[in-house]
Amino acid sequence: MSKIHNFSAGPCILPQEVIEQSAAAIREFDGMGLSLIEISHRSKNFERVMDEARQLVKDILNLEQRYEVLFLQGGATLGFYTAALNYLKPGGKAAYANTGVWAAAAIKEAKLVGDVDVIADSSDKNHSYIPSFEVPAGYDYFHFTSNNTIYGTQYQSYPKCDVPMVCDMSSDIFSKKFDANQFAMIYAGAQKNMGPAGTVLYIIDKEQLGKTGRKLPTYMDLQAHIDKDSMYNTPPVFAVYASMLTLRWIKNNGGLEGMENRNRAKKDLFYNELDRNSLFHGHSEPASRSWMNPTFRLNDDSMAAEFDKLWKEAGISGIAGHRSVGGYRASMYNALPIESVQVLVDVMKELERSKG
Ligand SMILES: *Cc1c(COP(=O)(O)O)cnc(C)c1O
Repeated sequence: MSKIHNFSAGPCILPQEVIEQSAAAIREFDGMGLSLIEISHRSKNFERVMDEARQLVKDILNLEQRYEVLFLQGGATLGFYTAALNYLKPGGKAAYANTGVWAAAAIKEAKLVGDVDVIADSSDKNHSYIPSFEVPAGYDYFHFTSNNTIYGTQYQSYPKCDVPMVCDMSSDIFSKKFDANQFAMIYAGAQKNMGPAGTVLYIIDKEQLGKTGRKLPTYMDLQAHIDKDSMYNTPPVFAVYASMLTLRWIKNNGGLEGMENRNRAKKDLFYNELDRNSLFHGHSEPASRSWMNPTFRLNDDSMAAEFDKLWKEAGISGIAGHRSVGGYRASMYNALPIESVQVLVDVMKELERSKG
């Protein structure tokens, strides 16, 4: 098989060693004579996996004592509703920033629970930028989406905010340095930057949880999961195991700083070519560019067939843009090697030469 350069927006590329170790664990796990996916989640062998995965998150993010880490199910999509259920007080109000499809989905779910003010909105320019704003006082919490996977925009710094902050970091967690200790709650679907689909990470400040007085269905009650060390019910064992391996890989490759250096080099390589090449333009405004999901278009769409042929021949996969933006999206998550970005850049140059 020739090498595939996997720019998929999600589920995404994972480190090769994680794929190999996961495959081996499916065959036989931990010398038990059994597969990872046919043992009890209450076995010591799996409890060690869950404990290590949770501890790795605390270590990599330098979380203070008051934080707890969970690996649950339902994706970030259930996280939208779970966030509102756990933080929006009856009669209270939440502030949201609408910066794209996922942010809007979070707003929709929160409105099922209570009152929501959209205090920042980029829909006037098809979400091609991150608005600049401060969060007014008085809200139960403020929710935002740190990286807008579909539009290719990303907060370069977080807004000034004195109310509890809740963030959907599905597509940029562990991609660069940030202060996780400023958040009341962070959640992130695993399949963008941490593992396979099937689990969602929650990082919770225990001191800011449990203020609503609301009785919740057990699965949506974050405190119930904290009380049972993320083992209230059967966890998604394979997704947690593969995420744990990826977290080990992140830690062994320099943690957040290592990922930031890796990802900075990739985004510089790509955006320098995008700005230089006369045939392409970006969707996102330069000051709001995502390091993870660059979105771009041909200036002349009649060249699409030729460009598509070139990148397919080069072994590139997964760069068709999302239908709400069009054009192309080259997702460059942690595990994508810079060599793959170089191949894409070379194809962009080749198209330009052929038009020369
Ligand atoms: C992919 C994505 C989601 C949806 O995640 P699911 O795990 O499919 O529910 C939510 N938010 C962001 C920012 C995403 O990129």
